Amino acid sequence: MGAAGGSVPEVRSELAALWGGEVHDRYGLTEAGPVAAECRAHPGGIHLQDDAFLAEVVDPGGEEPRPEGDEGELVLTGLGRTSSPIIRYRTGDAARLIRGRRCACGRSGTLLEGGVRRLFSARSRERGEDRGRFPGVGGFFALRSSVDLPSAAPEGR
Ligand SMILES: [Zn+2]
Repeated sequence: MGAAGGSVPEVRSELAALWGGEVHDRYGLTEAGPVAAECRAHPGGIHLQDDAFLAEVVDPGGEEPRPEGDEGELVLTGLGRTSSPIIRYRTGDAARLIRGRRCACGRSGTLLEGGVRRLFSARSRERGEDRGRFPGVGGFFALRSSVDLPSAAPEGR
């Protein structure tokens, strides 16, 4: 089951009490699909799908990369999606990346320590306060204007 707020301790406790089960945080975007999930070891964060995404953290609304472990705006590049790729996509969410720390579950890839939280409200976005525009980092969606589909059967057969 999915519910918003799984990373908020109060919501997590309430969900666990209501459903009598263990709560695991997960993170995803409509634009990107599932991005990261918490394992059973509860490492204090969520594991990025390193085989599907390259993650960066930059100054919120800016362009300077943040050192590993610093919080900033999460920027994602999808590595496998071809029909709707994202390239250096600004998520509008805050994260802190930790790499190379081995988790009790065995993973040692990128951990989004502390989970992910919303960086900008819808209202601040309407006011244009959410993100600066600069070359190289932004949303990018590729849409093909036509598709060359193979014919069902080769001609002459
Ligand atoms: Zn783990």
